Amino acid sequence: MDKEAIVRRTRGEQPLWVWLAVLTANDRRCTYCEEKPSQTLEHETPLATKGRDVWWNLVPACDRCNGWKHKSSATMWQFNMKMQHLHPKVGFARNTLPIQVVEGITDRVERVQREIQDPARLQWFEHHYGARKKPRLRGETLEGVEDCMEGLQSYPYLPWTSPEVRNSSSRCTRRLCCGHTDRDARLQWITVTEDEHRAFAQAAFHKGLSVSDLLSHLVRTYPAERSDDRLAMPASDHEEVSQ
Ligand SMILES: [Zn+2]
Ligand SMILES: [Zn+2]
Repeated sequence: MDKEAIVRRTRGEQPLWVWLAVLTANDRRCTYCEEKPSQTLEHETPLATKGRDVWWNLVPACDRCNGWKHKSSATMWQFNMKMQHLHPKVGFARNTLPIQVVEGITDRVERVQREIQDPARLQWFEHHYGARKKPRLRGETLEGVEDCMEGLQSYPYLPWTSPEVRNSSSRCTRRLCCGHTDRDARLQWITVTEDEHRAFAQAAFHKGLSVSDLLSHLVRTYPAERSDDRLAMPASDHEEVSQ
């Protein structure tokens, strides 16, 4: 896909998956105030001052901040708000955020842009939402963002952080996400107690693996070690009957 072609569009023409990738970043909060949910794609360096309409220039923002910032760059807006706090009578900015919030803007913009530019994350959004049309009304797009946030909460880990089952540029094959649709993969359900689950999750965490990765590792290596383990394993009822 020609990424340059997509990124040159104006905000309204950005495809749905770009809206979702940007608005779900920063845990769906506005990059500037971190108080309100993000509602729009904000050009960090505005188009009016040579800012490009590309995703590495987009951050999620609320309508209020988007309006207040208007045609300033984030750095200039931050500067004006700082001056407003220092010299309230001069009128550097008509409205301003609390000073602690203002101080953090540059760092937050950098962090949120890093999150949005993560190639695995971008690819995941494109795989899952690339084929969907953006609704005509912004309210409907924002409902889509809600659904997407809800969907993401159902994964034990952010799906784009789990390894790919195999390489595919056309669809998602991430293990904790769509990997089970891989021809060679099977989805396996197991039943454990709350305590067992907690202990296993901790063990996986210490190994730096996801629960699912550790479990599949055990399933893969167990048959090879079975002969050594035989005596140590608790015998099942079935085995006792047959002995
Ligand atoms: Zn805001
Ligand atoms: Zn997937």
